[in-house]
Amino acid sequence: MGRLGLGIAVGCAAASCAIAAVMVGRRVRSRKRWWRVVRALDEFEEAAATPVGRLRQVVDAMAVEMHAGLASEGGSKLKMLLTFVDNLPDGSENGIYYALHVGGTNFRILRIQLGGQRSILGHDVERKPIPQLLMTSTSEEFFDFIALSLKEFVEKGNDLQLAQVRGKDLGFTFSFPVKQTSVSSGTLIKWTKGFAIEDMVEKDVVQCLQEALSRRGLDMNVAALVNDSVGTLAVGHFLDKDTVAAVVIGTGTNACYLERADAVIKCQGLLTTSGGVVINMEWGNFWSSHLPRTSYDIDLDAESQNPNEQGFEKMISGMYLGDIVRRVIFRLSLESDIFGALSSKLSTRFNLSTPLMAAMHEDDSPDLKEVAKILEETLDIHDVPLKVRKIMVRICDVVTRRAARLVAAGIVGILKKTGRDGTGGITSGRVKGVKSGKMRRTVVAVEGGLYTSYTIFREYLNEAVAEILGEEIAPYVILKMMEDGSGIGAAMLAASNSARSVDTVQVL
Ligand code: ADP
Ligand code: MG
Repeated sequence: MGRLGLGIAVGCAAASCAIAAVMVGRRVRSRKRWWRVVRALDEFEEAAATPVGRLRQVVDAMAVEMHAGLASEGGSKLKMLLTFVDNLPDGSENGIYYALHVGGTNFRILRIQLGGQRSILGHDVERKPIPQLLMTSTSEEFFDFIALSLKEFVEKGNDLQLAQVRGKDLGFTFSFPVKQTSVSSGTLIKWTKGFAIEDMVEKDVVQCLQEALSRRGLDMNVAALVNDSVGTLAVGHFLDKDTVAAVVIGTGTNACYLERADAVIKCQGLLTTSGGVVINMEWGNFWSSHLPRTSYDIDLDAESQNPNEQGFEKMISGMYLGDIVRRVIFRLSLESDIFGALSSKLSTRFNLSTPLMAAMHEDDSPDLKEVAKILEETLDIHDVPLKVRKIMVRICDVVTRRAARLVAAGIVGILKKTGRDGTGGITSGRVKGVKSGKMRRTVVAVEGGLYTSYTIFREYLNEAVAEILGEEIAPYVILKMMEDGSGIGAAMLAASNSARSVDTVQVL
């Protein structure tokens, strides 16, 4: 080899060494980055873990907090509000009843025909968006719109004209915080969900509706004012008399249950005809140090409109689950390049909705096509390799599994408080550990988009209830799905409260 040849050979060797060194360096860096991702994921999974032991601690905390909330006003983060509903529908109700459901951008008008013997002979629903302008107008304009919509709905009924609804009872589902003063009256505490009709705050919402009905010439009687969880309990009880609690897991979350009137210690001398009363727990605000909180939950809460409030809701409801997932991917994108260049869409709150997160989670195509499509279209993240798509599914799984299992713990907490979990229940705020007594068949009605439309969520929830209760007790507890239960339930409550004086609950 001549000098030139040798020089070229040495040069080539040096260059290939340099290239090899760069490649090895890159590979090492990329492996390091990958390890960072794996570590961040492991940490997240560990912080969000819900082994059954931890769930049982949440069960006990829920039961103890329920007791505290019933013992005194402000005694717990659980408000444990008295609903004045003491007589749930039992299936014997007969006739045609109407209901209005106000609680979001859409409002619903319903008519049901009940035929006794737990039968629903007819059921019509109309959904209408509430014009944005009305959400910040005056109470008169707002209720005029509702009354007019109801009037149009009534007039559309083939066999029913205005004259025939004279004196008919109406149920009113109003899903905003209300201080109930009887089964058919209550004052608005504050607006939420973008509504801001200032002159309504502290007014009786039923009176406002009743006046608007009169202005429109509708002679109807608002017989029951309820929130959506109470409506769900009512329809559950109509269909199955062993239904004693209801849970809503949609955009937000709440639960209610049938309590013994004498257990409501904060209302000494509470008298009801049935001896029981429905308690609206407002459980979205539940909190316990046993909840498996991650750094993502802490950030989500700090950046929310209501920090330190609705802590349970922020871990379990549809408004938030997608955003927890988004926060995890955002962190991974900052720590590594597994999602390519940092997408600005990833840093915006609520850019990943829960239904889209569910669609990724439930993607059963071999190459996770749906995951890739959603990442691309929603978050502007392109060309993600399969192993990263699998990570996406894993993150969705961690978030949903935790949410569903916490709801399960909450439900068993209610069963524990009411002595239906096979243990001794609780007395004086202390949890008894001994199994005792006979088990009764117990039904819990469950409503809301997460339970009705997100299959994996529902399966995790059902499974966890059985796991916490154990195989001996689990067969006695049944979770029943109630689609659109809250509206129908209000109409049924109007029916069960119509024939009697509406104020059967007295606070002495
Ligand atoms: P709302 O809570 O407003 O009364 P729903 O009970 O229908 O309404 O729940 C709607 C919520 O449920 C949505 O905000 C969404 O978070 C969640 N959701 C609806 N469909 C799905 C789905 N297929 N998968 C997961 N979550 C869903
Ligand atoms: Mg709802």
